[in-house]
Amino acid sequence: SNFYDQTAATPDSPFDVALRPPDFSEFAGQERVKERLMLMVEAARQRGETLTHVLLCGPPGLGKTTLAHILATAMGSKLHSASGPQIERAGDLAGILTNLQERDILFIDEIHRLHPSIEEYLYPAMEDFRLDIIIDQGPKARTIRLDLPPFTLVGATTRAGMLTAPMRGRFGIPNRLDYYTVDELKGILMRSAGLMQVDMRPEGAAEVARRSRGTPRVANHLLRWVRDYAQVRAQNIITGEVGAAALTMLDIDEDGLDEMDKRILDAIINKFNGGPVGLNSVAVAVHEDASTLEDVHEPYLVMQGYVKRTPRGRVAMPAAYKKLGLPVPITSRD
Ligand code: ADP
Repeated sequence: SNFYDQTAATPDSPFDVALRPPDFSEFAGQERVKERLMLMVEAARQRGETLTHVLLCGPPGLGKTTLAHILATAMGSKLHSASGPQIERAGDLAGILTNLQERDILFIDEIHRLHPSIEEYLYPAMEDFRLDIIIDQGPKARTIRLDLPPFTLVGATTRAGMLTAPMRGRFGIPNRLDYYTVDELKGILMRSAGLMQVDMRPEGAAEVARRSRGTPRVANHLLRWVRDYAQVRAQNIITGEVGAAALTMLDIDEDGLDEMDKRILDAIINKFNGGPVGLNSVAVAVHEDASTLEDVHEPYLVMQGYVKRTPRGRVAMPAAYKKLGLPVPITSRD
């Protein structure tokens, strides 16, 4: 429904694919994660072995899918993609796993949404590269064991906390992706502008970067809009002013908050008296999917200090009142 509706199940758009950095050197930011992954790749390559399983965590649009592709390229292996909720039956998983070649990478997006029974099948596949499948039913039921080629599972999740303990245990240390800094986003935008052959000035990139909520995917999508705007209204040149005017037209404010963010703040403050309020109640009040709120809007509002998560629910912080031009109630002052 809105610009940031980027549930991970959506297939990658050709636009995303075109702007995706092909290797570590073009992948901006996330230095610690990058360093760790590069080291793992080097070690595996030196030993001539399959890369160990990798878990990537973080909000949508921060580069998890991109890193899976980069890992495959770095290992010189093929990437196979699937998404947790898509794998409904054991047979689906068997089909995917038996298609793998040695050292291939299987990327499972939204791995926290895998069906528990599918997870059970995945454990021995991850640990011992075998798959025990039950065929037939009743007295004729029997298990057949398939040996799988050694492969690498790259799991991505927006919610590390929702992974089951056995699943978490089968990965090494989780690699957490953080929101990007404005400078990093500026760099990403300048690179994208080059690929799209648009004339964007550094001040134009800065305007877009500031409103991209720390997220490269958002930055690239905003850039596409700004390019249209510049083409029609500004002789194809994205200056700071042009960037700001274009994004104001989308109702994105100078802090990167959009209509939905403001409706969320407004609901917590005006409908629920500032909170604490449960996420589902907020979702109903603003007519948005609860998981979009939790994955996309809330982490950014929390990081920016507008909302606090407490055990009893979400609470509006003074910055939220100020954002809406409302007086800050005494009780929420620190
Ligand atoms: P996720 O899988 O975490 O939802 P993606 O890997 O699909 O995110 O990233 C979305 C888009 O953002 C990519 O197509 C790519 O163009 C861009 N992107 C993500 N991370 C980076 C980065 N570190 N440097 C440059 N571009 C990036």
